[in-house]
Amino acid sequence: MPSSDEDWMRLAREHAIASKGTDPANTPIAAIVVLDGKEVARGVNRTAEDCDATAHAEIVALRAAGAASGAIRVEGATLYSTLQPCGMCTFASIWAGVSRIVYGAGRDNVHEMYFEDRHLSTLDYITDAYKDDLELAGGMLAEECAGLYFRPWDDVPEEEQAND
Ligand SMILES: [Zn+2]
Repeated sequence: MPSSDEDWMRLAREHAIASKGTDPANTPIAAIVVLDGKEVARGVNRTAEDCDATAHAEIVALRAAGAASGAIRVEGATLYSTLQPCGMCTFASIWAGVSRIVYGAGRDNVHEMYFEDRHLSTLDYITDAYKDDLELAGGMLAEECAGLYFRPWDDVPEEEQAND
């Protein structure tokens, strides 16, 4: 039974690999929703599979959490994600009642294609505007998780640089 942030992140990483392999081009990103020490739901990125720009791993996991719990919100839950969540997923976590997000690889660990490249980071905005609602903790197994993605120094072909 996973009991620490590291355990849950390891599980999320294993789920990403089991579902999508280790090729960064297949976006092996996974998320797990945990409430009171128990897994509620999990998900992997399905944007390409579902032709759905919103099917990020975190959204897939939150939808599954709603279905599993029969409630709109998983109040007080922790969301584990192998990659720093984007603005959409961070906001969705707030609406879903998630009180804590723990992520693996952060934007400094991966290729710039994964994050908006402007001076304003959505995450900074959210941590500032919603700091009473949501705690963000990054860098859990950062190197192990980052190994699943394109790295800052990788020469990624333009056609593979989809930020989804
Ligand atoms: Zn996202």
